[in-house]
Amino acid sequence: MKKPFIAGNWKMNLCLKDAITLAETIKTKTENVSNVDIGICPSFVFLGDIAKVVKGSNIRLGSQNMHSKESGAYTGEVSGQMIKDIGCSHVIIGHSERRHVFGETDEFINKKLKSAFSFQLAPIFCVGETLEERGHGKTTDIIDNQLREGLRDINYENIKTLTIAYEPVWAIGTGKSASPEQANEVHTFIRKFITKEYGEEIAEGMVIQYGGSVKPDNINDLLLQTDIDGALTGGASLESESFLKIIEIADKITAVKEVY
Ligand code: PEP
Repeated sequence: MKKPFIAGNWKMNLCLKDAITLAETIKTKTENVSNVDIGICPSFVFLGDIAKVVKGSNIRLGSQNMHSKESGAYTGEVSGQMIKDIGCSHVIIGHSERRHVFGETDEFINKKLKSAFSFQLAPIFCVGETLEERGHGKTTDIIDNQLREGLRDINYENIKTLTIAYEPVWAIGTGKSASPEQANEVHTFIRKFITKEYGEEIAEGMVIQYGGSVKPDNINDLLLQTDIDGALTGGASLESESFLKIIEIADKITAVKEVY
């Protein structure tokens, strides 16, 4: 059975000491969690220290971004090789803040995804519509386009390691989550897209996370939806209490689902 994947995107937050403490607490308190895949994505500059903390545990380490090029004159950028070397297994690609604040295009995101696969990094590929796009009834057109362009020429073998995160831009960091039904509708659309492009086996095996103001009090209803397989959490992942509660709820839901 597919495990839910709960990942924390720490964004540009925390000092080194607090980042280490948070990683240590998550590691210690999740030692007996077996029904959930857990990931944390600290700032680039803390990855080396956090890699040492989570070494030997079940916690996956992810970076929040990477460049598409292997190396070269790209001042201030970080390559897939570098984050692989430092101990990452995962990388977030196409986060809405990268798209909207830093102007990343679908074409660039596609190049980054290809580069991530070439270093055996498992991408968490983010897609999502703005409030205006939703208001104009364009949600599925936008998602379709982001998937089509982002996954252009990505082959069957690589796609197996991909996680997709549906993150409506209007729900990120706003405290206003999509309703479980609203989110599930888009997740079902994404799964159908993957089925059409890559077949049912890949689509059914793929984890599609929801992201956008996920908290301990809404994770249960989100995960009970048919096509929501996990969460990419921002704010709630910065405090051990809320992140651990989300994991605990996901762990219980999966255990119950396994019984039936
Ligand atoms: C995110 O950064 O991907 C995110 C979903 O943030 P938040 O949970 O704070 O809305």
